[in-house]
Amino acid sequence: MAKNYKIRMEYLKQLRDMFENYVDDFMVARDYLRIDMLIERLEHDFQQEANNDGIVEQLEEDYPYWGDFRKCHPKIKRFYNGGLYFREAVTPNFKEVKLSDEDTVMLTREFFSKQGEFFVKHFDDFLEDDSEEHIDFFEPTKYSSGEMVYMHTTGDKFIFAANYANIVKPTAFAHEAQHVIDNEANPEFFENNVIRESTAMFMELIATDYFNELLGLGNQNLLRQFEILSIVKMDTRDALIRDKMLRIYKKTNHLTPAHIYKRLTKRLSKDYVDCMADYSMYQLYNYQISYLIAIELYTLYQVDRDKALNILIDIILNGTPHNIFTLLAKYGISLNKHSHQYEDELCLKLGI
Ligand SMILES: [Zn+2]
Repeated sequence: MAKNYKIRMEYLKQLRDMFENYVDDFMVARDYLRIDMLIERLEHDFQQEANNDGIVEQLEEDYPYWGDFRKCHPKIKRFYNGGLYFREAVTPNFKEVKLSDEDTVMLTREFFSKQGEFFVKHFDDFLEDDSEEHIDFFEPTKYSSGEMVYMHTTGDKFIFAANYANIVKPTAFAHEAQHVIDNEANPEFFENNVIRESTAMFMELIATDYFNELLGLGNQNLLRQFEILSIVKMDTRDALIRDKMLRIYKKTNHLTPAHIYKRLTKRLSKDYVDCMADYSMYQLYNYQISYLIAIELYTLYQVDRDKALNILIDIILNGTPHNIFTLLAKYGISLNKHSHQYEDELCLKLGI
């Protein structure tokens, strides 16, 4: 009988109610906030909660974390200033491919088994554990192509993956499944905000090549990779503009919010300043460092598959935002070494 994957809202609410009784415990409180936010977002098609306070309050919240961003700023800027320039994110016309939910899960399992025992073992552990209740293929929305939410205290891992009728269905699922594998192997990994996406983005990139070949799709892998690149570049642009805003905020934060707003809109377009209120600095830049790590590993994977996968395992087991660059340097990897070359090659292969 075909499996019926569905995450029930009642189950999420039951978990939330249970966590609510123990919020004195820091770990439970963290899970409580996480599931509460998830339920809220699910009720609004994955839309982020709007920040009604406006941009000045958002900058005030960002300000303490600005130092972390500044450390990554040169790497991000170098990535943005070289290679391809995008005016907006690309939305390719993908070929239609209809994969059932069950086939998507089983083919992804096969994909992980090709990457090695470490990956498939942890994925199997997840599949054995009520996976029908922990996987959901939702109708694609404009707000999300997928996410994984991990409950530290109960070990629950929920995968939401968009039910596209193209190559993105299995590859976005592989991305979320990699988040599950990371947390099966290292329950602390979920907290590594800046690098948490690196392993998943790497797996997603190699999954595009894998599924493209398996399903005989021509150049769909390249189109999907091009789409991802364009999205990351646009986020990079936003992060760099946010950085400019924080520089203005630093000089003006003794003024009233109305004055700060006036200074911001004097230097930057008002439309831009206003639309930035919806995102925190952290939401803007965590994917970029991860993507740059993923590109280096992806490039290495083409010539030395085992080495790339072993580094990935090292990142999952031992990586943190504080040690990541030292960990990578141990293997001779530094960011932006291949990112522009990767962009050029992608263009060449796509004939752009
Ligand atoms: Zn992710």
